[in-house]
Amino acid sequence: MKRTTVFVLFLLAGGLLFAQKPRPDAFPPAPDTLAPKALTMATTLEEMYQWNRYPTYNVYIDMMRDFADRYPELCHLDTIGLSIEGRLILSLAITGSSLTDVYRPEFLYSSTMHGDEITGFYLMLRLCDTLLRSYGTSPEITSLLNTTRIYINPLSNPDGTYHGGDSTVAGAWRYNSDMVDLNRNYPDPFGTPPLDSLQPENRAMIAYVEGHNFLLSANLHGGSEVMNYPWDSFTSQQRLNEHSEWWKEVSKRFVDTCRKVDPMRFRDVNHRGYVNGGDWYVISNGRQDYFNYYHNMRELTMELSTSKKLSTHLLDHYWQCLSQSLINYIKEIHHLDDTTTEGIQLVDDRYCVYPNPTRGKVCIDTPQGGRSLDLSGRPSGVYIVNIDGHAVKIVKL
Ligand SMILES: [Zn+2]
Repeated sequence: MKRTTVFVLFLLAGGLLFAQKPRPDAFPPAPDTLAPKALTMATTLEEMYQWNRYPTYNVYIDMMRDFADRYPELCHLDTIGLSIEGRLILSLAITGSSLTDVYRPEFLYSSTMHGDEITGFYLMLRLCDTLLRSYGTSPEITSLLNTTRIYINPLSNPDGTYHGGDSTVAGAWRYNSDMVDLNRNYPDPFGTPPLDSLQPENRAMIAYVEGHNFLLSANLHGGSEVMNYPWDSFTSQQRLNEHSEWWKEVSKRFVDTCRKVDPMRFRDVNHRGYVNGGDWYVISNGRQDYFNYYHNMRELTMELSTSKKLSTHLLDHYWQCLSQSLINYIKEIHHLDDTTTEGIQLVDDRYCVYPNPTRGKVCIDTPQGGRSLDLSGRPSGVYIVNIDGHAVKIVKL
């Protein structure tokens, strides 16, 4: 209903400019004309752990700290940065306590850069809880955590979500507190200058990503139900992403798994439930294209609920539909088709080196953290690289 209203208003204002169904994510939020829906708030941790409410800002912070306090051997809390109004942008770093694996690839979930798209915010908190709670009892989760470093940022635009005050999400809106759409604010790899200067929330996120070697990530939104894969800046006919076939397979697995629980999900954009971003609607300065192009990672945009502010009585149902898909998507990091070290030879087993062949970047995972190196413009040969006081030899074949 809400999207229909937006569409009608848009047509009246702008004429029949688009033959395609408009992308809800591309429009400012309409006044909520739906019948009042429940946006019940949890005001205590105990209430939040019942998983049928949204957290107040303080309960959200308490819950993230509670995870870190209760499972110190499995996770720690990172502060990505601060919002304009000084709210915390947090990430929970989760990995298994087993020390059998030297190298574990890094995965990132990040939700709700549009402050009013809050389904993912809830889902990510519940995913943190499930991963931590299941370690040691579920073989699936134990194995996943023992082989993967998982970073979960449930809320990347806290000023937008708590625009109406820390005690409610009823006043949540799309923008940050400077009224900037954070998903139109990233440097554009294809040349479109952003309308506004790089916002603090995005600057912090870029720095966080640059400090890691995320290979795979997802950026969670709402307003529709579709897996939106790169590029957003182009239609598939204009410029096809080099991994588009892989994206289709991954997206199909995600949607199919969800539909085993609820066959009606992921049907509002097309029957498949996944789409090349630009074929749905072209945008520039989005986060997805920025991270795919500039960083050694693959990110897609998950639109997870047609209602941006999902009524709290539906939250558990959406978790039941999506939880296995969300867990399976993390596992995809172990099946990327270009993480081979072919062409790059590592001669130091304290480090793990892997290339990004599409952009010639070499990433080096060290005990102190990740580094990246661009050998794309250099000739073949032997390179000695000093990393944290250690000489690492890399052979470019
Ligand atoms: Zn969005």
